[in-house]
Amino acid sequence: MTERNRSTARRPNRPLNVDPVDWYMETVSRPDGDDGCWFTTMSENGKGRPRVCVNGRHVLLARLFWVARHGAVPEGLQLAHNCMNRRCVNPSHLRPTTQRDNQLDEFRAAGPPDYVATIRRMHAAGVAEHRIVAALGMAQSTVNDIINHRRWRNA
Ligand SMILES: [Zn+2]
Repeated sequence: MTERNRSTARRPNRPLNVDPVDWYMETVSRPDGDDGCWFTTMSENGKGRPRVCVNGRHVLLARLFWVARHGAVPEGLQLAHNCMNRRCVNPSHLRPTTQRDNQLDEFRAAGPPDYVATIRRMHAAGVAEHRIVAALGMAQSTVNDIINHRRWRNA
């Protein structure tokens, strides 16, 4: 199935008297079992994350499932995927994290690394140098040179 087909495979509107968690759980498929990534037929937002409407508000479906299981997300934290799969809605694959950590994950998940651009983007986003070093497993001196444009000046 293509991306387009999947995102247009919407279900009819959820009846108001039905528990949203139960209802949306029925849209979930588990191709690799309960422990694998879960997928849904619900449509995705612009970032590829499945999103649903609850009480008139858009909610990420993975977040809805996580909150149903664990309660409210601790203040100041957000949920990040352990599995790096934005389409996954398995609450077991989410963990509460700080925004900074989540940014690191996003950069790690960005695909084949273009290190120079990645490092400068992370730096511009306010990620501390030692965390960039840890995230990418590169030498501190190299990261520092890239941030300060002593290497790959024109990259
Ligand atoms: Zn997953």
